[in-house]
Amino acid sequence: MTQPSTQGPGDGTRAVRAGLPDPVKNEPTLPGPVFAAHFHLPGDVSGPYAYGRDENPTWTHLERAVAELEAPGRSDAAALAFGSGMAAISAVLFSQLRAGDAVVLPSDGYQVFPLVREQLTAYGIEVRTAPTGADAQLDVLDGARLLWLETPSNPGLDVCDVRRLAEAAHARGALVAVDNTLATPLGQRPIELGADFSVASATKQLTGHGDLLLGYVACADAELLAGVRRWRKIVGAIPGPMETWLAHRSLATLELRAERQSANALAVARALLERADVFGVRHPGLPGDPAHAVAARQMRRFGCVVSFELPSRAQAERFLDALTLVDDATSFGGVRSTAERRGRWGGDAVAEGFIRFSAGAENTEDLVADVLRALDEAGAR
Ligand SMILES: *Cc1c(COP(=O)(O)O)cnc(C)c1O
Repeated sequence: MTQPSTQGPGDGTRAVRAGLPDPVKNEPTLPGPVFAAHFHLPGDVSGPYAYGRDENPTWTHLERAVAELEAPGRSDAAALAFGSGMAAISAVLFSQLRAGDAVVLPSDGYQVFPLVREQLTAYGIEVRTAPTGADAQLDVLDGARLLWLETPSNPGLDVCDVRRLAEAAHARGALVAVDNTLATPLGQRPIELGADFSVASATKQLTGHGDLLLGYVACADAELLAGVRRWRKIVGAIPGPMETWLAHRSLATLELRAERQSANALAVARALLERADVFGVRHPGLPGDPAHAVAARQMRRFGCVVSFELPSRAQAERFLDALTLVDDATSFGGVRSTAERRGRWGGDAVAEGFIRFSAGAENTEDLVADVLRALDEAGAR
């Protein structure tokens, strides 16, 4: 399902080498985490590393890796690592927007967005929202300073046309940021599609093991990124060296994980479509999905998440209990499949029987069999 890369080495080749420093005799391939609050600094302040809230060599390696994956071949692209996806998102929003500005957010975006909206409003920023599907954010763009896209959206899996929206926003003088969490840079490259910022939670599939929180901002405009860096310094929303190093280590398997997990998601989605007790199956890789046409134009892999509905909350809970290879847990993108009844959080506009399913790296036949058996058990009572 991977479209051929247009130029240069393949995604797996790039992923295993991303961000590695030039080889140094007797040094490891990926230098270990540097634990330092401060660095030796005799005399004047010079050189990259002085204080640990500003810079850290372990961040530098990961940030180079992320920039290479988000914008291959673009020497003007750079990235900044943050302590979580929300730290990265907030850094872009709060560094770029001023009192009196207007921002366009997705109405179906990540579940913390209602809180973000409250905070923006408290700072005198006008917040407008519209759904991701059908590029509806276009209609409320006039006069906005920043357009925030989340595609595919979490958890609804709607998709918007990044190129079209970015052109429209730029024509009106607005900046464009894309939350690339669900797609990962191997699934979609927002900067190539015209966005100013590609922002993501690296907590999810990018790192893929469910054992750390991390975020990043990638950008090909040094001035814009300087504002985001300044914000990181002020707020101090920095990643720990250990998490940063683990994330970089995980990138080496990103392509392998993305391939298997995307294939598993599509197989699960196809199996769900055959069931009379399942409805509203959404996955951008399904040819019949409302998002497929746009997704196929701008995505290179369709991600590991499938959403669907069971007839009731009770049946959804029985289904989750009956699964043996799929953990009932939030988040997504890990090598172990997870699923949850999203309505339990209360934040998303979803039905009581709505399930967000994240396909892991299990063997496809085993995963599909587990899902089908759990559906049978959930419906038999
Ligand atoms: C999880 C998630 C975030 C927040 O990331 P954290 O690392 O949990 O702070 C933001 N956007 C999307 C789409 C997410 O799925």
